[in-house]
Amino acid sequence: MQSFSFTQAKTVDGAVAQGARYVAGGTTLIDLMKLDVETPRQVVDINLLPLDHVETAPDGGLKIGALVRNSDLANHPEVKTRYTVLSEALLSGASPQLRNMATTGGNLLQRTRCYYFRDTNYACNKRQPGSGCSAQDGFNRIHAVLGGSEQCVATHPSDMAVAMMALEAVVHTHGVKGERTIPLNEFYLLPGSTPDKENVLEPEELITYVTLPALAAGMKSHYLKLRDRAQYEFALASVAVVAQVDGGRVQRVRIAMGGVGTKPWRSREAEAVLEGKAANERNFRAAAEAALRDAKPLRYNGFKIELAKQAMVRTLTVATKSA
Ligand SMILES: Cc1cc2nc3c(=O)[nH]c(=O)nc-3n(C[C@H](O)[C@H](O)[C@H](O)COP(=O)(O)OP(=O)(O)OC[C@H]3O[C@@H](n4cnc5c(N)ncnc54)[C@H](O)[C@@H]3O)c2cc1C
Repeated sequence: MQSFSFTQAKTVDGAVAQGARYVAGGTTLIDLMKLDVETPRQVVDINLLPLDHVETAPDGGLKIGALVRNSDLANHPEVKTRYTVLSEALLSGASPQLRNMATTGGNLLQRTRCYYFRDTNYACNKRQPGSGCSAQDGFNRIHAVLGGSEQCVATHPSDMAVAMMALEAVVHTHGVKGERTIPLNEFYLLPGSTPDKENVLEPEELITYVTLPALAAGMKSHYLKLRDRAQYEFALASVAVVAQVDGGRVQRVRIAMGGVGTKPWRSREAEAVLEGKAANERNFRAAAEAALRDAKPLRYNGFKIELAKQAMVRTLTVATKSA
């Protein structure tokens, strides 16, 4: 690990002024520093900032501090009862110990689990722009079938972000130019020719909160994650659904996928197929076909396309049954 300076911030302004790399739970950043994948010169610990609360907003939505731990968020009564999809997604991730450390802000900004990104012996455009993409002709079983480019096919690994995408979360930040709000759907970038740039944040911009809009009465939700083993494993395909069904018809639906895209993937194509239609398996399958229509398999990951379709049918079935 390269040497670096370490300070602790006590205020949001103080943290931002230092313009350094933030560390929250450290479960991504410290790992990557040990591997020499991340080599920040200056690290600012933000754990003393007063951003560790979940509050109900006046409009009935939820305001989640960036330092709220994944375990606390998953087990928060409002999240368990009203935002079930989020609780399920969080509890499907990592291990209890990791969830006790991992934070809301850090989870959104965790880096890909692509083996070639995490191993400095291999070329990786995300780690070292212009060096090449070892995954294109390598063992690309865990890689993306949606949103990839010749420069990068790494997936975004967060489960929480997939649920938040379906819940239409908004990210609140504080930077040198002041505060901003960014819909999560506009937060992540496709890799294109600059896979090292993963989101719209400025280098010193601090995530302070994430807000979730209130859910209309009768909205139900579900998260399903498919992976190589039942625990402690990242998604090969996952689906988050938030739906309102009335008289057997889908009135509103929000669908997002994990494990298949280069960013947490909201599927407006699937939503468009379903809205106003009967909540039945034929229509769920049509939605899944629409969601994966543009999928581009690599040598080893073609199986993800059918896996994601079946995951979507299953998640829609469960979410609309409970609605
Ligand atoms: C073995 C293992 C298994 C895992 N399995 C899963 C899984 O199945 N599903 C899943 O979703 N995740 C999984 N994870 C990832 C884990 O969820 C993330 O490591 C964690 O959520 C990151 O949060 P953190 O607070 O520890 O982030 P940190 O490591 O502290 O930070 C991560 C990044 O975010 C930046 N950052 C942190 N907070 C802020 C902020 N407020 N504003 C701006 N920048 C910030 C840091 O600078 C850094 O770049 C796993 C991790 C491990 C090690």
